[in-house]
Amino acid sequence: MEHPPSPRDVVILGGGLAGLTLAMQLKRRDPTIDVLVLERRGLPAPEAAHKVGESTVEIGAHYFDKVIGLGDHLREKHLRKFGFRFFFSEGRRDLDQVTEIGASRHLSVPSYQIDRGIFENFLVAEARRRGIEVIEGSLVRSLDLAGSEQDPAAMHRVAFSLGAESHSVTARWVVDACGRAGLIKRKLGLAEPNDHAAHAVWFRIKDRIEIDRWTDNMAWRERCDPPARWLSTNHLVGAGYWVWLIPLSSGSHSVGIVADPAHHPLASMDTFEKAMDWFRVHQPLLFDELDGKRHLLQDFAFFKRFSYGCRQLFSADRWALTGEAGLFLDPFYSPGSDFIGISNTFITELIATDRQGGRLGARAQVFDQLLHSFYDSTLTLYQDQYAIFGDPEVLPVKVIWDYSYYWGVLAQFVFHDRLTDLGSMAALQPQLARCQALNAAVQAFLRTWSGVSARRNPPVMLDQAALPWFAELNRSLNDTLDSDAFVQRIRDSHDRLHALAAEILARALSEHPALDAGSLAERVAEHHCPEGAAPMLPVAVA
Ligand SMILES: Cc1cc2nc3c(=O)[nH]c(=O)nc-3n(C[C@H](O)[C@H](O)[C@H](O)COP(=O)(O)OP(=O)(O)OC[C@H]3O[C@@H](n4cnc5c(N)ncnc54)[C@H](O)[C@@H]3O)c2cc1C
Repeated sequence: MEHPPSPRDVVILGGGLAGLTLAMQLKRRDPTIDVLVLERRGLPAPEAAHKVGESTVEIGAHYFDKVIGLGDHLREKHLRKFGFRFFFSEGRRDLDQVTEIGASRHLSVPSYQIDRGIFENFLVAEARRRGIEVIEGSLVRSLDLAGSEQDPAAMHRVAFSLGAESHSVTARWVVDACGRAGLIKRKLGLAEPNDHAAHAVWFRIKDRIEIDRWTDNMAWRERCDPPARWLSTNHLVGAGYWVWLIPLSSGSHSVGIVADPAHHPLASMDTFEKAMDWFRVHQPLLFDELDGKRHLLQDFAFFKRFSYGCRQLFSADRWALTGEAGLFLDPFYSPGSDFIGISNTFITELIATDRQGGRLGARAQVFDQLLHSFYDSTLTLYQDQYAIFGDPEVLPVKVIWDYSYYWGVLAQFVFHDRLTDLGSMAALQPQLARCQALNAAVQAFLRTWSGVSARRNPPVMLDQAALPWFAELNRSLNDTLDSDAFVQRIRDSHDRLHALAAEILARALSEHPALDAGSLAERVAEHHCPEGAAPMLPVAVA
């Protein structure tokens, strides 16, 4: 049965985070567009125990707040995140005696801890309020993609079932936002495995995990203002793994272990009981916290190998993939929502171009290349880097580097709305290519350094809020920049990254003069850094 009205301008397969926000972005861009979302789930999502993807970072938070216009909901119904935080607490019961990385106060740009059940229920209602048709309980069964570049009038056809009834709908555009079901990816054979083999297990506990109370040391607690570390995305780290603790506004806490199987096989943690046994050895304070709360367990799930790529995400044939239907990297720095925001923005631009009668070919190709280049450079932050997570000397340096790269380059393009501005991209191509090459060299060098690091774990806080340049880089995302100022901003980021790379190299070589610097030495030598510049890396605060 044809589902009227047909044809639609856009049919989105899957109404999760990616699909529903894309629908709203399209509607904001062009209120006359006709968007249909087909979502398999028939009932409201449960609070807390729904999906993973609860911690946002700056790009994702900005996308939901400013691009989609969900700021009031985020502020009223979810928790403001107290940044990220890392503790080198492997095998330890004295949290105040280990190195902590984090900020002692909020930085300027907000981010949120999102209860995915509450969020998705709101997104469905809000999408409908904005004039988008969302059919819940509709299971997409098949699709015929028209070769529309050859035939401008050709329509895609999507077949779906609604209860016992079969329906079909035709559309000019079809976007796959079905998550790991990956309908278009499977149909066109676009799956592209990567070499990042990490796995994850996670669960929700119906109680708060107040990490602040894990020690009676008041001086330690008051190192933070507010003294509320539980609001951070807390990472308990050790060699080859990290554990996440994410608070949810519904009162539950999300807990996960993400590990490199070469260090911690999935079989050692793939049930709640096994995960508890694993905590007993590796993160005993968390074991103590959870042991009396076993009856409050709300769910338990795992993914064996969660990271994967995709050969093509956007096509001039008027189809696209977004969210986990396309690719997924690694949750260590929570980039899932960032990539949703970025790919949705590219798709919105392509659909708007098409509706204005513009040609899609080259644009679709360039956006695809850009997204793949963000994916490739972000993957270097994680792939083969899990051994560093247990290193209290090298990981703090890596975190500063990774965030300088993220806030200094990618986040600047998003916050200043230059993602689809191909003119700025082209003008900045030399700097962007050099930043990417420098990042690859730094990541390789950090691995080498960690191989010889003494891994000292003193009881200090490496306070990122106490690094004026770092706090300012975060704040600078809120600036309003004209074209020239934007180009200069990226050039400044490029220079800053060079200075930071030079300092990283010098710090490592001061203790390990024989260390093989690989290509980093050449990269650093390519660029002149001013003499006598103030140090950038964090200084310990006892
Ligand atoms: C271990 C782990 C931790 C993560 N942590 C974070 C984090 O802290 N922060 C972050 O930003 N991201 C995180 N992510 C990523 C985040 O989970 C994803 O980015 C996000 O959930 C993807 O949303 P989506 O809309 O693409 O997919 P989904 O949320 O899975 O939505 C897909 C929708 O499609 C529907 N569907 C499927 N098949 C059909 C069909 N045939 N017909 C109709 N509908 C269908 C499903 O019902 C579902 O609602 C994490 C990922 C993993 C694996």
